[in-house]
Amino acid sequence: MKIAICPGSFDPITLGHLDIIRRAALLFDRLIVAVLVNPGKNPSFTAEERLDMIRRVVRDIPNVEAECFDGLLADYARLKGAHTIVKGLRAVTDFEYEFQMALINRKLNPDTDTVFLTTSSQYMYLSSSMVKSIACFGGDIADYVPECICGEISERLSKRKDN
Ligand code: ADP
Repeated sequence: MKIAICPGSFDPITLGHLDIIRRAALLFDRLIVAVLVNPGKNPSFTAEERLDMIRRVVRDIPNVEAECFDGLLADYARLKGAHTIVKGLRAVTDFEYEFQMALINRKLNPDTDTVFLTTSSQYMYLSSSMVKSIACFGGDIADYVPECICGEISERLSKRKDN
């Protein structure tokens, strides 16, 4: 069975992430979306909230599941029996960091390779931080996040502004 991991902060999950997840799900038998629990990053949504949103939006994709993880991705991949890490590439600006991460992960776990999927052009400029900036000022994020979590994200982030 070919198992792959799609790691990220997903703070929150966007249509760009979902596009990569759907396409990766066609390439592997089992895809684990792994939510990075990284207290250093000071996320807008807790790991549990991010996980809950992902589970709701991938509900219709039978070979996709989601979990939280902390520690080294290389160790997590080993634990899950995954030999592939799937990442999305938006632009050249993503490349240097992702290239470095891929090399480090391969050094830490030589049984794991990183595979890059090119973004779909309509999501090229989409990031979680862009979604948060728009929502924070009451802008419409319907074109950027899955419909079933759109209201919840807008409400949470625009409330935050009032605090
Ligand atoms: P972000 O950079 O939006 O905070 P994450 O840290 O959650 O996203 O990234 C997880 C993975 O998803 C990374 O490989 C990232 O390149 C990819 N990704 C994020 N947004 C997009 C997008 N719009 N198109 C393709 N890949 C994306």
